[in-house]
Amino acid sequence: MSAKKNEEIILKYFDTYSVKEIANRLVITISAKEDAKKTEQLKEELSKENPGRKINIIYVSEKKDTSPNEQKWNLPNVKHIIAVASGKGGVGKSTTAVNLALALANLNLKVAIFDADIYGPSLPTMLGYKAVPPISEDGETFLPFKECGIASMSIGSMIKEDTSLIWRGAKACGAIQQLLTQTNWGNVDIMVMDMPPGTGDIQITLSQKIDFSGAVIVSTPQDIALIDAVKGLNLFKKMDVPILGIIENMSYYICEKCGHRADIFGHAGAKETAEKYNVDFLGEIPLHYDIRVNSDCGTPIVQSAPDSTYAKAYASIAEKIAEKLGF
Ligand code: ADP
Repeated sequence: MSAKKNEEIILKYFDTYSVKEIANRLVITISAKEDAKKTEQLKEELSKENPGRKINIIYVSEKKDTSPNEQKWNLPNVKHIIAVASGKGGVGKSTTAVNLALALANLNLKVAIFDADIYGPSLPTMLGYKAVPPISEDGETFLPFKECGIASMSIGSMIKEDTSLIWRGAKACGAIQQLLTQTNWGNVDIMVMDMPPGTGDIQITLSQKIDFSGAVIVSTPQDIALIDAVKGLNLFKKMDVPILGIIENMSYYICEKCGHRADIFGHAGAKETAEKYNVDFLGEIPLHYDIRVNSDCGTPIVQSAPDSTYAKAYASIAEKIAEKLGF
């Protein structure tokens, strides 16, 4: 039985879970709050589909804050924070976050972007600056960077380049909290938060502690990315963060020489997933050389080629998001 098929079976029963294959065992971790009857049914179905394999189900209890609202991190001058998230890395989450932030700023909104992706902080590269430690003029607050006309801060400023990062949840969250809440952002209409990929402890803590107005899920069209995207979506739903919608990145490729369209990673998977989970589909971003080169060179396409079809794709999504937030 393939890992994908097993995940599909588990998803029929539970929204948020983790699954590991250890030797000849399939170990599934779910919340202690889940229905025991459903767990038995899942175990039965997986045992049938995986003959000779042991199925272990582990329950974990979630610690609930007694007064979660009181304990949210304080960002008094920021009207809305939106999470840009993906279930897995490499789907173009940071590229999407940066271009969306710039497209939102083009709507005359005061925009900031925060790079919380501790596993691969790429915001400074994408906005064209060096991730040097932030400066403080008053000894109390940090000054945000101001490249490409938006205020930004990256957890990369706190990590030495070329250092592999093995931060545990609490340490990573502590560093994010400090940089986020001690930065002098000024008045911000929308802050875009480039989340770390995945659905582990860090993502759970961030979605509890940050007062998100909504979350945007970025996925590529193929099934394997979408399974992870659904996990991300369910994490936010569970944490009561509204889902603003799903974006399909690297949706299709048009050959510039012959105009042939190639659906390299399949097509429309994200739209179908959005329909299935009853959330909005925000739009498609094509796979294109210019998006890659510009985002890796510090000249994001929305800024360097604002009239290109690619920049327009981000602009159309930004308009939908701004409207959902009441701008
Ligand atoms: P993630 O944040 O999900 O890890 P990145 O945004 O860092 O992903 O993107 C991974 C790579 O894919 C980068 O080199 C980026 O330039 C490239 N990329 C992202 N989106 C596109 C796109 N639509 N077309 C072409 N390249 C893209």
